[in-house]
Amino acid sequence: MSTTTGRTPLPHLTGEHDDVRTRVQRQLAEAVLPHADSWERQGYIDADAWRALGAQGLLGLAHDGPAFLDSAVLLEELGRTGYAGVRAAVGVHAYMATSYLRMFGTDEQRDTLLPAVARGERIAALAISEDGAGTDLRHLSTRAEVLGEDGYRVSGQKYYVANGSRAGFYITLVKTRETTGDRGLSGVSLLAVDADAPGVTHTPQPMTGWRSADVCRVDFDDVLVPADRLVGRRDFALMHLMKGLDFERLVAGLLAVGGVGYCLELLNRFVREHQIKDVPLAAHQAVRHKVAELNSDFELIRTYAYHAAWLHSRGRLDTRTASVLKLRATELAVTAAQACVQYHGARGYLDDAAAARLYRDAMAGTIAAGASELLRDMIFEAH
Ligand SMILES: Cc1cc2nc3c(=O)[nH]c(=O)nc-3n(C[C@H](O)[C@H](O)[C@H](O)COP(=O)(O)OP(=O)(O)OC[C@H]3O[C@@H](n4cnc5c(N)ncnc54)[C@H](O)[C@@H]3O)c2cc1C
Repeated sequence: MSTTTGRTPLPHLTGEHDDVRTRVQRQLAEAVLPHADSWERQGYIDADAWRALGAQGLLGLAHDGPAFLDSAVLLEELGRTGYAGVRAAVGVHAYMATSYLRMFGTDEQRDTLLPAVARGERIAALAISEDGAGTDLRHLSTRAEVLGEDGYRVSGQKYYVANGSRAGFYITLVKTRETTGDRGLSGVSLLAVDADAPGVTHTPQPMTGWRSADVCRVDFDDVLVPADRLVGRRDFALMHLMKGLDFERLVAGLLAVGGVGYCLELLNRFVREHQIKDVPLAAHQAVRHKVAELNSDFELIRTYAYHAAWLHSRGRLDTRTASVLKLRATELAVTAAQACVQYHGARGYLDDAAAARLYRDAMAGTIAAGASELLRDMIFEAH
């Protein structure tokens, strides 16, 4: 049983995971923390830093099996850096986008793309959402004309693509077959499209938060994609998405748990140190109880997050568990960030304050990777 100091012990973790955590914390303290503010200002992670993360072995950890628990520790610690833009960029690259290649790609696709991803030399992005197709993907308008052995000709626009300007390739959701009537998401496929293919352009979409995540609109203008870049089954990507989105929500939940952990460390410290009328804020019962409630919710959700990670490591993650985790972790992040700014007063609302960044970042968590309302609907359906 893991005994991470100051936290409820986690049943699925061992002392070996504590060692992983210690190593990862040290690596992130070197590779991320000294640079993260400058990445936030420029809007993306430097190429050298991607390579440094790759060289530390942080971009190629397991997506499944018992070793996934090492990934769960990494994801929480990425969140605990306190920079949701960084955690999102790395989470999309090393987990969310590449999961489709790992689960449904051909051996050739995996051999060609994944080693460079693990080294941080080719950045992966996920291009699913569109202006008119976010929660409801049935309105997808990006089309891929099937050219037989010559592959596909892709046209359309993808919105809010993290790692958009630095990506080496986009895992892109396209319509490959026209369907009539309300046929759900049938006739869609996934293509791994090279970012330097003629006809691919990107335009930054600076966000209120997640500033290092390099969110862009990506345009595909008659882009020719070779036939061997089809990921999974043509016209049947819905099946792949169902599995991929559960995994994405597990990853988003673990990252968000780490973010809440960072926020509460800040808050716990501040209410003990900051004095008003010669007493610390924590001298007030209302403050203590509010902070205690946040810490209690955090302990519950963190334990649930590792339960979900353990289920996944056994091949048993289900939609309900992934949705509950993502919903609760990202909503707690909003509540915790709000309290953090409130108790910091104006100093927490300064543009470069950590509390203000947490507050800006938290709101994206309840929208990206499935808006809270969609998750509530799915959880309701599952009961
Ligand atoms: C920071 C950030 C990064 C992102 N990165 C990526 C990326 O890398 N790749 C990618 O493909 N996409 C990405 N997205 C897009 C994301 O997946 C979509 O924003 C999300 O799916 C919601 O779609 P939408 O924004 O179009 O909102 P809409 O679908 O238009 O929904 C708008 C709002 O309606 C409400 N709503 C939705 N459904 C219901 C319901 N059933 N009942 C009641 N209310 C409802 C919710 O409050 C929702 O926020 C990112 C988004 C953000 C904010």
